[in-house]
Amino acid sequence: MRRLLVINTLIFAVLASAIALAYYGYSFSAEASHRERAIIHDTTRELAEEKIIGIESPLLDADEKLFSSIDPERLTELESVVRNLRAPVTSVFVLGADFKVLPSGYVSTRLADEGLSFLRFFQSEVVPALGLGQLAEGTRGHEHLTLGGRPYLFSFSRRSTGARAYYVVVEADLPHLVANVFPQFFGVRSPRLYQVVDESGELVFGMPFRERGSMVEIPFAETVSGWRLRVAQRDEGTQAARGRRTVIDVVLIGLALAVITSGLAVLLYALRRERKANALKSDFISNVSHELKTPLSIISMFGEMLASGRVKTPAQATEYAEVIWRESVRLARLIDNVLDFAKIERGVDVYEFASGDVGEVLARAVELSTHRLAAAGMTCALELPPDLPPVRLDGNALTLAVLNLVDNAIKYAADGKRIEVSARAEGDRVVIRVRDFGPGIDPEEHDRIFERFYRARAVRLKPIRGSGIGLALVERIAHAHHGGVAVESALGEGSTFSLWLPADASRDMTAA
Ligand code: ADP
Repeated sequence: MRRLLVINTLIFAVLASAIALAYYGYSFSAEASHRERAIIHDTTRELAEEKIIGIESPLLDADEKLFSSIDPERLTELESVVRNLRAPVTSVFVLGADFKVLPSGYVSTRLADEGLSFLRFFQSEVVPALGLGQLAEGTRGHEHLTLGGRPYLFSFSRRSTGARAYYVVVEADLPHLVANVFPQFFGVRSPRLYQVVDESGELVFGMPFRERGSMVEIPFAETVSGWRLRVAQRDEGTQAARGRRTVIDVVLIGLALAVITSGLAVLLYALRRERKANALKSDFISNVSHELKTPLSIISMFGEMLASGRVKTPAQATEYAEVIWRESVRLARLIDNVLDFAKIERGVDVYEFASGDVGEVLARAVELSTHRLAAAGMTCALELPPDLPPVRLDGNALTLAVLNLVDNAIKYAADGKRIEVSARAEGDRVVIRVRDFGPGIDPEEHDRIFERFYRARAVRLKPIRGSGIGLALVERIAHAHHGGVAVESALGEGSTFSLWLPADASRDMTAA
């Protein structure tokens, strides 16, 4: 019991450790991949921020230079000032304190007519949207607008000369930004993918790509603030590889768990079998000892009576001697059974095959059972056709097998009063049948009764002695002859055991 407890505890401990290991392995791998993703995400974000600063800083510098270089008193020089600064701008406006564009306070790269109409458009539509009134002196403001379906970026600053306030508004050259500046920063050969999208998610720059786990999205803060920069890992392979690695991890961990659990299951099964076999063996030992003891005590009792001369008539003496003889035959048979069985179990080749007559074997077995049959009040009919083919057989082994079947019929089916033993040629086989008219055998146990040490449920409680090796021995002898054994029986309807052997006389049986 203690050993069992230790084994069960050990198995449980191994299983628990395997599960703990699997859990640790899985969570470690999941955490590592999570950390890797987080690192990629952080570096991508840093990179996106650097790109935005890289794009915006020159724009802000150019604005600042323009704001400080323009003199409202000398607007006739405005155009040359703007040109000299090579600022990436489309138009520059200089407005008075009343938010009106000052005379000569407008230069533009637009053609003359278009430039004039844009000036009107600027004065009526753009200026009110800029909120110039709220601007503090010297500060910069910017407005990223969509007007008439087109995007504009205006930067502006409030300045003053003496007591006079004026405003400088700069319209950035957005087509130049998109066509020339963005490509410098967002290289096609970069290991990352870049996109600039507007407020409605429409693509302004870059190639379309699917949303990815690693994608980072940051707005332009100081300039085109309606636009957002998107950066993603170009190499989806790394993500796919990461996914594959996770799958491999899970599969490996699962496999290891499965191997450990099936190993434990096999171990448990083997232990259970061993326990069962041990129980059967101890039953067997007690059954055999019991079987040995009974005839021995009968022999010694009747022997003692004979020896002490307590016999009244010669007839009684003969009767006692017969009892002693019968019991010693039974004892010898039992010992034969056990010894042969042990030899066969050890794999020792115990057979000597020769061409023989099944009829002779049956007749001998029936004859050897005469006394037992009579004692049980039974009769045995032997039915043999005249033309039975010869069979390669080991006479002693086959007799032992048939004796076992007849003995069982006497032991378990005495109520049926009669036994029929027969042999018949069927195809290329010779089939021996031992039929009784006893209680029969539950069909559920038909396979099990041929297992060694197994005794049917019905007989276990009855005082019928047995060791459970008889039918196992019959089966082994049949197999050694390249034959087989089967039972046909139902409860209450008697049993028929059929033992068949191949009729092929040329076959070499010694290989069995
Ligand atoms: P044993 O007879 O020593 O118990 P066997 O291997 O010869 O062992 O038989 C196994 C079991 O099969 C028996 O215990 C008995 O329950 C059952 N059995 C065998 N022959 C018969 C039979 N003719 N009628 C009913 N039960 C049988």
